Amino acid sequence: KRTSPGQEEFHQATEEVLHSLEPLFEKYPIYKENKILDRLVEPERQILFRVAWVDDSGEIQVNKGYRIEFSSTLGPYKGGLRFHPSVNTGIIKFLGFEQIFKNALTGLQIGGGKGGSDFDPKGKSDREIMKFCQAFMSELYRHIGATTDVPAGDIGVGGREIGYMFGMYKKLTNRYDGTFTGKSLKWGGSLARTEATGYGCVYFAKNMLEAKGETLKDKRCVVSGSGNVAIYTIEKLYHMGALPIACSDSAGMILDEEGIDLNLLKDLKENQRARLSEYVKYRKNAKYTPVTEYPKGRNAIWSIPCYAAFPSATQNELNLEDAKELLKNGCKCVSEGANMPSTNEAVDYFVEQKIAYGPGKAANAGGVATSQLEMAQNASMVSWTFEEVDAKLEQIMRNIFESVSTTAAEFGQPTNFVLGANIAGFRRVADAMIEQGIV
Ligand code: NDP
Repeated sequence: KRTSPGQEEFHQATEEVLHSLEPLFEKYPIYKENKILDRLVEPERQILFRVAWVDDSGEIQVNKGYRIEFSSTLGPYKGGLRFHPSVNTGIIKFLGFEQIFKNALTGLQIGGGKGGSDFDPKGKSDREIMKFCQAFMSELYRHIGATTDVPAGDIGVGGREIGYMFGMYKKLTNRYDGTFTGKSLKWGGSLARTEATGYGCVYFAKNMLEAKGETLKDKRCVVSGSGNVAIYTIEKLYHMGALPIACSDSAGMILDEEGIDLNLLKDLKENQRARLSEYVKYRKNAKYTPVTEYPKGRNAIWSIPCYAAFPSATQNELNLEDAKELLKNGCKCVSEGANMPSTNEAVDYFVEQKIAYGPGKAANAGGVATSQLEMAQNASMVSWTFEEVDAKLEQIMRNIFESVSTTAAEFGQPTNFVLGANIAGFRRVADAMIEQGIV
């Protein structure tokens, strides 16, 4: 806190990890002796840059650009780019820090990094989005590469933005390689990458529930957000025979007791780029509640009675009061598609209550794992079928669950997947750091 003042989200993420690691440090002093955590909280490299561009009215706009290369111990820096007005150093650092352990949990050779900008894509024309992406890449291109740092999407960065950034990267470097993941299927993307984070998050929930002899079939589910992760969480929930009944965006939420109309949701969000409030124009029985009507300090979506909840929008969208309300109404499972969506108090409550709680760094790791599968396909110049990639994703999520749950059991807290995920992820990076020496 002394050396990184004001970076609240980063402090929150590091405190959660530190707390979980105490039993490991007690049992194995080697990690403290090697100052692994002291080294890991300091990014290997932080790149902060100006992004100047001209909007449609001819006015000059200036934004901040970030790429924080946290750890290359296990492979090239890997992690998404976020375009959202709330982006600052503390947010990119929390995301990059979590990414180290998440990527370690996949068992694949990927290091951790994250980047983005305080640019707000909302209300911008397609041309403005392209201009911004090109300006952003005119600096970032010199820092990234297929074997050094491989960015992907995150909030506000989807297939369209990756396309504009890759186009500029290719022009500036004269290279056509797998430096980005989340690319279009027409020019190097992987089948099932778009679906991977949401699908993986539901696979993780399935694993947690199977261990308790339960399933998602016929269960009411609530999913926050309505972006990439939320949409494909809803799709996989339908595949599992569950009933997703609610989702949200930053302006409000919808409750559709008959089940979310997925085709309508995709059309509104992926094609029309419309607000979620439009949904009720087409589905008369659904109810829209704007954020202005939420109870003070609360996210109303967590008051809807459900069996399983999938926070898939953003950080700190679920606090202790929300957590209590969820469980009071019968919720038995929380699987996090978003990064750090629950406050630390809410996380502690879920763990105390011993529900099936999958923290983001384990439950949403399917996205980055499939990005690595995209890198593997690009490097070997082959393409796998949707079924092949999806089968690998399902297996990776099962492996992550097994690693997390056996580690939790090893430390005497078999239902504490926060402890299991943090220790399992940390241990893989830490052991590699010790072998690679002090650098
Ligand atoms: P998208 O931009 O596709 O969607 C984000 C959704 O969350 C939108 O519905 C958005 O609403 C809502 N949202 C964003 N910020 C806020 C906010 N401050 N308050 C309320 N709602 C908000 O992003 P993704 O679906 O890709 O990402 C969602 C989460 O998943 C993030 O935490 C991300 O880090 C995490 N994640 C994503 C991965 C991926 O592969 N894409 C991989 C692993 C984690 P609105 O449109 O109104 O802003």
